[in-house]
Amino acid sequence: MKKKLASLLLFSLSVSLFGCMNTPQEKPGIEVEKREKHEEDQALNIIFEDSDFETLPIKASVDLFAMDTVMQLSLYAKTQEQAKKALEAAAKELFRLDNELSTNITTSQLYQLNTTGSAHFDQAGKDLMKQSITYYQKTDGLFNIAIYPIVKAWGFTTNHYQVPDTKTINKLLPLSDFNLVKFDENTGEVTLTKEAMGIDFGGIAKGYASDRVLEIFKAHKISSGLLSLGGNVALLGEKPNGSPFVVGIQNPNDPQSYFAALSLKDISVITSGDYQRFFEDKGKTYHHIIDPRTGKPANNGLRSVTIVSKNGSLGDSYATTLFILGKDGAIDFWQKHKNEFDMVLVDKDNKVTITKPLAPFYEENDFGAPEIVG
Ligand code: AMP
Ligand code: MG
Repeated sequence: MKKKLASLLLFSLSVSLFGCMNTPQEKPGIEVEKREKHEEDQALNIIFEDSDFETLPIKASVDLFAMDTVMQLSLYAKTQEQAKKALEAAAKELFRLDNELSTNITTSQLYQLNTTGSAHFDQAGKDLMKQSITYYQKTDGLFNIAIYPIVKAWGFTTNHYQVPDTKTINKLLPLSDFNLVKFDENTGEVTLTKEAMGIDFGGIAKGYASDRVLEIFKAHKISSGLLSLGGNVALLGEKPNGSPFVVGIQNPNDPQSYFAALSLKDISVITSGDYQRFFEDKGKTYHHIIDPRTGKPANNGLRSVTIVSKNGSLGDSYATTLFILGKDGAIDFWQKHKNEFDMVLVDKDNKVTITKPLAPFYEENDFGAPEIVG
C-alpha cells in the first residue's frame, strides 16, 4: 500500500520546508531578507511527455519557485503549443502575484504598505483584501492577516527564531487588530492606522494563486490539470480517461510520506500543519500558525488540517483557522459550513477524523481507520 501510494502521489510536493510566505519588515534592528522581483516572462523548463490518452495526447509540466515555495504545474493538452501557452500564462501570473504581494520583494505593493503604512493595491491585492475580510468575519477573527507583527516577533519572517516574552506579545496584540486596517475596495487604497502594524497574506495567498491558475488554464481551454503550490493542491477536472487524481496527505511525523490518499476531481486540497514551519527552543517546539487570541502558536491538539473545497482561498484560510480551533471547534465549524468544504484532521495521537462526504474517496495508509463525522 505504501509503495502504491508513493507511486501515485507524483504531484504532492513536500511542504515541510516552505510552509509560508516570508514576511520581513524593514525596522531598525530587524534583518530584512530582501528579494529581487521575478522576471515575469522568464523562460520555463517545460517537460513534455506522451500522455497515453488519445483525446489529450500531451502531458506537460513545469516546476518553478515563487511565494517562497516550490510549485509544480501539470496539465494535459491537445498540442504542445496549447500546453506551452497555458503554462507560460500561469507562470507569469504566479510571478506577477508574488511581485505585487510579497512581503520581501522591495518593489511590491505589500512591502510598500508594511514599510510606509499605506499603499495602493491592484486587482489581486484587492481580491485578497476582500477575501481576507470575509474570512476574518466568518472565523470570528481567527483568520487574521494583521497577525503579522506577532508572526514577526516569533521570527517566522526571517528564520531568526525566538520566543517573545509575554510583555512583547501583549504589546503587539493590539497592533494585530484587523479593524485598524483601512481598505477602500473601489480605489484599492490600504492604510495601517498605527505604527508597526503590518499584514501578510501567507495564510491565504497560495489558495488564491491556485484559483487564479485554474482560471488561466480554463481560459486556454485546458480541461485537465493539477497544481501543487507548496503542497497546496488544486485539481482541474479529472484525468483524460475520466478517472480521478490521487492526492496524498502528508504524514506530520514524516512529511516525505503520506498517511492517506484522496481520489478527487475538480477541487482543491489544502493542508495547514505544525510540521510545515517550526523551531525548537529549550526542548519545546513552536510552529507558525498563531492563535490571535493569545499571540502564541495554536495548541489545540491538532497536527494538521486538510480542507477539500471548490474554492482555494477559502480552503487555505479555513485550513489555518481550523488548525487554531482544534478538533471539536473544527467539527462545530464544519457543521455550520458543510456546504462549503470537507476536511481531514490529524491529532497529536495520529488519530484521523474525516467528514462523511469524503469517506468514499479516502484511502487510509499509516494511521488506520478514521473517525467519520457528519
Ligand atoms: P498556512 O500555512 O496557510 O496555515 O498559513 C500560515 C501562515 O499564515 C503563517 O506563516 C503566517 O504567515 C500566517 N498566519 C499565522 N497565523 C495566522 C492567522 N491566525 N491568520 C492568518 N494568517 C496567519
Ligand atoms: Mg492557510
